[in-house]
Amino acid sequence: MAQDIILSTTGLTKEFKGFRAVNGVTLEVVRGTIHALIGPNGAGKTTCFNLLTKFLSPTAGAIHYKGRDISRLQPADVARLGLVRSFQISAVFPHLTVMENVRIALQRRKHGDSFDFWRAEKVLRRLDAEALDLVDQVGLSAFSGHQAVELSYGRKRALEIATTLALDPEMLLLDEPMAGMGHEDVERTASLIRRVGKDRTILMVEHNLSVVASLSDRITVLARGQVLAEGDYATVSKDPRVIEAYIGA
Ligand code: ADP
Repeated sequence: MAQDIILSTTGLTKEFKGFRAVNGVTLEVVRGTIHALIGPNGAGKTTCFNLLTKFLSPTAGAIHYKGRDISRLQPADVARLGLVRSFQISAVFPHLTVMENVRIALQRRKHGDSFDFWRAEKVLRRLDAEALDLVDQVGLSAFSGHQAVELSYGRKRALEIATTLALDPEMLLLDEPMAGMGHEDVERTASLIRRVGKDRTILMVEHNLSVVASLSDRITVLARGQVLAEGDYATVSKDPRVIEAYIGA
């Protein structure tokens, strides 16, 4: 059976003043998988990620999401289609509580900026129940009354995942989810990603290779702006070109 590709790029290219940071990348992400984008420093991972999330426009090539060319869409339009980037610290209000942050994210998705005050109580009660469920899903129940600013770094990121899940994404893009985390937070975040990935597609850029090994169904290795190898961890980690790119970087 043909694989169900949710996101793909063909010949994706980004030039900065004549330098090709991303050079003809063709990538396919299968629906329902956790897919990692790895590679040595300067490989083009961040640029690629910014192209996928529409923070940069490609010089050439196309990006398709659920069969639709999204190369020319704005980030907000892409998010509306169900492709959402997480870990944007700005999405969390530091002086609101965990519950308040999640409730606001839910409220924005469901009601936009308009709010029907005549039905406010009923609506708020329903939002509370949903927010509580999301807070629980990301393991923050014990912290629901804490302000975001009081949370550890790892828990702040769990809160960001909760506010992202409030948008009900079909696919999540995670930019270095483990960056700056201590061992305990890494473990907790890895199991959260595994849980979230059970019924969603995830594409992540991640430096921590043991996390990549334990979480990813599929891995694309970039080097010098191009795809060097692709496959599961066992396959790519044995590939001499990958070993050379990491050691020679
Ligand atoms: P990675 O995330 O894999 O470390 P990047 O995508 O950040 O790689 O960078 C790939 C290459 O593109 C690097 O050589 C980097 O210096 C260059 N680059 C990235 N962004 C810019 C920019 N805005 N202007 C010029 N060069 C850039």
